[in-house]
Amino acid sequence: MQNTTDTSSYFIELEEKHGAHNYHPLPVVLDKGEGVFVWDVEGKRYYDFLSAYSAVNQGHSHPKIVNALVDQAQKLALTSRAFYNSKLGEYEKKITELFGFDKVLPMNSGAEAVETAVKLARKWSYELKGIAENAAKIVVCENNFHGRTTTIVSFSNDPDANNNYGPFTPGFVKIPYNDLSALEETLKNDSSNIAAFLVEPIQGEAGVYVPDEGYLKSASELCKKYNVLFIADEVQTGIARTGKLIACHHENVQPDILILGKALSGGMYPVSAVLANDGIMNVIHPGQHGSTFGGNPLACAVAMAALEVVEDEKLSERAEKLGQLFRNEIEKVIAKSDLISSVRGKGLLNAILINDTPESSTAWNICLQLKENGLLAKPTHGNIIRLAPPLVITEEQILDCVAIIEKTVSEFKK
Ligand SMILES: *Cc1c(COP(=O)(O)O)cnc(C)c1O
Repeated sequence: MQNTTDTSSYFIELEEKHGAHNYHPLPVVLDKGEGVFVWDVEGKRYYDFLSAYSAVNQGHSHPKIVNALVDQAQKLALTSRAFYNSKLGEYEKKITELFGFDKVLPMNSGAEAVETAVKLARKWSYELKGIAENAAKIVVCENNFHGRTTTIVSFSNDPDANNNYGPFTPGFVKIPYNDLSALEETLKNDSSNIAAFLVEPIQGEAGVYVPDEGYLKSASELCKKYNVLFIADEVQTGIARTGKLIACHHENVQPDILILGKALSGGMYPVSAVLANDGIMNVIHPGQHGSTFGGNPLACAVAMAALEVVEDEKLSERAEKLGQLFRNEIEKVIAKSDLISSVRGKGLLNAILINDTPESSTAWNICLQLKENGLLAKPTHGNIIRLAPPLVITEEQILDCVAIIEKTVSEFKK
């Protein structure tokens, strides 16, 4: 019989030995999930405060989404787009009506959806804006995270993301985030060659950077003024996470191109989407873009159920209300501790800043201690810990989690 630690070690060693080392996981081996909780192979229960990077907004193994998955898997999973299928059209109607666009282009991962948006914006700029062949530029922000493909890491400034992956895709211009004058300057100087501005409404991976109020609104207006597409990457911020269906809605902004992923499937299956109106989407004709799995009946059934859960359980409203409560309660912890310097975020996408250098292992060590106390979270970019539970969390559970964080912080020794 293996004792408890041996069970975890067994699985950890398997991954270490046989898997590429492209992640550095917290030493916990998960085996089961339900709602806001996950259990490790020893049977210990944790609050999940990562939610698979906000893919599991609807909670782990939501019965409605599981049922949709199982029912559809038993009927028809994949047809390819060589044929029509009886789920895709209904899903397309649902998602376009919900988000207010004429059309959707279905893909699988978030990175693929970002790639799709980049291709769509470029094609639109050549065929409708009139940019000269191969001259189109897309403006992006410093410290962005849009995924891991070669083109996407071409415009990352994280050395881990792009070091030794060149040569890179040209045609991207980087400006500081949350800087309207930099955007205006860039658009004004080169508007005839700029196809689009690609932005995260909150920079999640970078450490939950919330831009100034009005930034998204003014940025979208600048884009309109210079005939540049405003592309919102809401792969992490979308699907109720920040207290609205998409974070752009906080400023009444309707992007020209909207990118969704992660919680679009409630974390059940990779489903991503690019939404736009006909004036943009119709530049893509048969054979010019696609994916074997994109728009498959299984994905469509799962995504429809996942979106229904968001509506039925009023997850945006929950995230808004419980996010306020969470930040207020964490402020009280901060007042009593010098280990956390601040809390920031919107809805239930929040982060605490640890009072130490980005190079220190303090945030990692706090996460190890949080794990001991029954809560899973991970540092992002050094001394920042992102705290993003499933949106189905209750008020009582939020308070319980604040108590765990408070206990951890008060006991913690550097
Ligand atoms: C996670 C993420 C992506 C990439 O999604 P994948 O499914 O991992 O390819 C893109 N953009 C943002 C903002 C993300 O958070």
